[in-house]
Amino acid sequence: MAKIFCIANQKGGVGKTTTAVNLAAGLARIGQRVLVVDLDPQGNATMGSGVDKRTLEHSVYEVLLETVTVADACVKADKAGYDVLGANRELSGAEVELVGVERRQDRLRAALAAYDQDYDFVLVDCPPSLSLLTLNGMCAAHGVVVPMQCEYFALEGLTDLVNTIKQIHASLNPRLQIIGLLRVMYDPRMTLQQQVSEQLKQHFGDKVFDTVIPRNVRLAEAPSYGLPGVVFDPSAKGAQAYVEFAEELVKRCAKR
Ligand code: ADP
Ligand code: MG
Repeated sequence: MAKIFCIANQKGGVGKTTTAVNLAAGLARIGQRVLVVDLDPQGNATMGSGVDKRTLEHSVYEVLLETVTVADACVKADKAGYDVLGANRELSGAEVELVGVERRQDRLRAALAAYDQDYDFVLVDCPPSLSLLTLNGMCAAHGVVVPMQCEYFALEGLTDLVNTIKQIHASLNPRLQIIGLLRVMYDPRMTLQQQVSEQLKQHFGDKVFDTVIPRNVRLAEAPSYGLPGVVFDPSAKGAQAYVEFAEELVKRCAKR
């Protein structure tokens, strides 16, 4: 059965897309069959997987509007090692076009239901908002992986996200849970980051993943080559951390 996880945080620039593509590549590297669903009209996960968003024949937009199937719309990102259901600017129209449609938050879940046996993991890269697109991701998912930087305001934003997840769990998707918080862009030399990291562990206990993703320039360079960092430079610290994270996630899922 495919495990469907959203990579979500309503803040922008916190490492969602970097986590989605590198976790996907890390999982692929350890033999898992992975689909990345790009739910952000910016299409960064699409491009960062080596799929050109400007020349997509079909995209997640059409899947949400139910004009094509996931199988018809998804493409193989050969170098990255997984499949991609891509996105581009068109997707920003979905929000408006789905207004008034019944169960509009349920479109992605319905579309993915047929592919339960085809993947081990489906990773949904969410936009930086708690919009209808993110809601579609969360209604389709079993869990949420929250990448976060250990900065002062990070904890504040987390409260909103946790409350949103609780509400969705209570009203729309009873299987939804927080899988864990992933500390990213971590710089151990910064005292503030150490402090926030400690606070996180005190507050969220084992919901904080053991793996920590360091700040690593190779991860930031990789997208301009159309590759996840894990594939672009597997020996870099950041790439190694994402492969470790993939292993930790698989172990966690096996325990459940
Ligand atoms: P989001 O999807 O949440 O908006 P991104 O994954 O696009 O965030 O990351 C924001 C920026 O930070 C990007 O330029 C990305 O390359 C960079 N970045 C992400 N993670 C790291 C990291 N661990 N080390 C260095 N740069 C990173
Ligand atoms: Mg992003």
